[in-house]
Amino acid sequence: IGLPSSIDPFTVKKKVYSGKAFADIKINSSKKILTLSPNSYQIEEIKKDIRIESFSPDLKDEHFKIKKIADEKRSSDKLSVLDADVIVSAGRGLKGPQNWGMIEEMADILGAATACSRPVTDLDWRPHEEHVGQTGKVVAPNLYIAIGISGAVQHVAGISSSKYIVAINNDKDAPIFEVADYGIVGDAFEIVPKLNEILKKHLA
Ligand code: FAD
Repeated sequence: IGLPSSIDPFTVKKKVYSGKAFADIKINSSKKILTLSPNSYQIEEIKKDIRIESFSPDLKDEHFKIKKIADEKRSSDKLSVLDADVIVSAGRGLKGPQNWGMIEEMADILGAATACSRPVTDLDWRPHEEHVGQTGKVVAPNLYIAIGISGAVQHVAGISSSKYIVAINNDKDAPIFEVADYGIVGDAFEIVPKLNEILKKHLA
């Protein structure tokens, strides 16, 4: 979840217990393989004099060792939650699949992907590829908007690396507000259509 905190000993931080705690892990092997979460590190300007050298390598086919292992097709042309910079996500608070129009509208306005909590896919209200959380996809967008989602620990495990979390929930004590950067307490059926109108006006 970040660049190494030290090179010697080589130490990296990782999430444990579904994101409830962090562990500093020392890697002693000579080869180290790391996967970094999106948004887990910043681009830093290193103030140094840069010397620019021209470089024209002679690249021949035999220099490339590329082996195709498999083709993976997306199930639709929709933006995937894993690629999206902005995610509009909704939960059981939406009461039924017929109410997702306003969620899709918001996603369209923001160029976002749609996601949801696990019960929503268990109930077949939304497709399984939208399920986010401990047993679903782990996402780290710049902006995650959680609408009618309580913020159970298993859901938060999949979104806690998001840069900004915005929650809309009619229960002021919903746990999602503990992890949200911005929160709106109120009825999603009133707030979301109003927000969509405002966003349309400002982003048109
Ligand atoms: P609810 O808990 O029913 O919450 C609905 C929320 O909507 C409430 O906070 C309510 O106040 C609010 N609401 C209701 N009406 C409105 C309204 N009109 N306007 C605004 N807000 C409203 N869950 C996941 O999401 N992902 C997982 O990967 C996952 N893995 C799990 C793994 C295990 C082993 C277990 C046991 C559970 C897992 N769960 C997972 C389920 C998780 O514990 C929660 O049950 C689930 O996240 C709750 O989904 P929800 O927030 O959509 O629904």
